[in-house]
Amino acid sequence: MRMNTKVLHEGYHPKNGEPRALPIYQSTTYTYDSTEDIGQLFDLTKEGHMYSRISNPTVQAVEEKIASMEGGVGALCTSSGQAASMISLLTILKAGDHFISASTIYGGTVNLFAVTFKRFGIDCTFVAPETSLDELQQHVKPNTKAIFGETIANPAMTILDIEKFAALAHNNKLPLIIDNTFATPILCRPIEFGADIVIHSTTKYMDGHAVQVGGVIVDSGQFDWSNGKFPEFTEPDASYHGVVYTKDFKDAAYITKARVQLMRDIGAYPAAHTAFLLNLGLETLAVRIEKHCQNALEVATFLNDTSDVQAIFYPGLPTDRYHERMKKYTPKGASGVISFDIAGGKERAIKFMDALKLASNVVHVADIRTCVLHPASETHRQLTDDQLKEAGITPGLIRLSVGLEDIEDILEDIQQALDVSRVS
Ligand SMILES: *Cc1c(COP(=O)(O)O)cnc(C)c1O
Repeated sequence: MRMNTKVLHEGYHPKNGEPRALPIYQSTTYTYDSTEDIGQLFDLTKEGHMYSRISNPTVQAVEEKIASMEGGVGALCTSSGQAASMISLLTILKAGDHFISASTIYGGTVNLFAVTFKRFGIDCTFVAPETSLDELQQHVKPNTKAIFGETIANPAMTILDIEKFAALAHNNKLPLIIDNTFATPILCRPIEFGADIVIHSTTKYMDGHAVQVGGVIVDSGQFDWSNGKFPEFTEPDASYHGVVYTKDFKDAAYITKARVQLMRDIGAYPAAHTAFLLNLGLETLAVRIEKHCQNALEVATFLNDTSDVQAIFYPGLPTDRYHERMKKYTPKGASGVISFDIAGGKERAIKFMDALKLASNVVHVADIRTCVLHPASETHRQLTDDQLKEAGITPGLIRLSVGLEDIEDILEDIQQALDVSRVS
């Protein structure tokens, strides 16, 4: 199947007389004929659902669809994008370990890595994404266990050189984890460029309608966990009577460990109804993304031509610093998100945002409706000035998420808000 077909048909295959739409299995538990059956589920020697903290048939259909879209061997849905980032790393790292992350990532992820993981005894080094491979190598230590980056950074709108980060990872026998939230598999499939694990906040484009918070982790199945650096994958897991993930689950070792160990213990699994809503979003993802990219390119071209805008960051613009790299990694478009620095700094930015009538001022992005956000005073408020700079955020930076309205209406709204914010 190709992508437009996958989003509609993967994951759920109804048999004769069964519902055409994905059913919502709103049940915490599953019945079995014998205690022996359930014992085998606990031993992981038999497949099946046991308890909806670990798996559920509705969620599983969505997991299979996303795994197929990204070209992975398996996926695990989570209750948020934050939970996906956390579990993707905690499946690999423990106290005393270290990992490397590009600095151009989502603000919430910076907090998780720099503050909360530190409290767990896990150390993260943030690196400037344009650092050369040789310089990046100098940050790798004996206890380094993973490399992390974002395809299209929220909100800096930089495009990561995924192949360079994959080289850094693989030269050191480490897995590369890529947050592919903004690109979605419609624009980029990071596994094709060497990513070993792909994560998403499904809250954004995958859902698209602002109705569910969720996340997902996809396993490429390609990383060699038995290379000597990851004993937790090759030695018996005491919590499962000695299961050895690499031996018993082969290329699905990582995603199985993430589910049966981390998800079992942390419990950040989505409800069936949430997965049902996400599935509705996924069904139209391909057509929506195409239109988001089209509308955003028109808005970016308009903003680029006005003197009210000091700098604009949209890799789809031929003049953008990341345009060449976009042609390689996201050739069909650069998503619907545009960041721009308004002339007049923070004060003007706030006036502009408050003057918008159609675009909503929300803590959200990647929605079907056009929306705006001021990173420095909202999502990235907790970051220090240095962290803001590293994430590519200036005081006047506005993140504009272009929706699917008629382009004339979007442009008229922006024009009137520029005018109003200029006058007073
Ligand atoms: C929003 C976002 C997250 C966090 O996801 P939540 O669903 O809000 O927990 C992680 N990464 C990126 C790139 C995001 O945009």
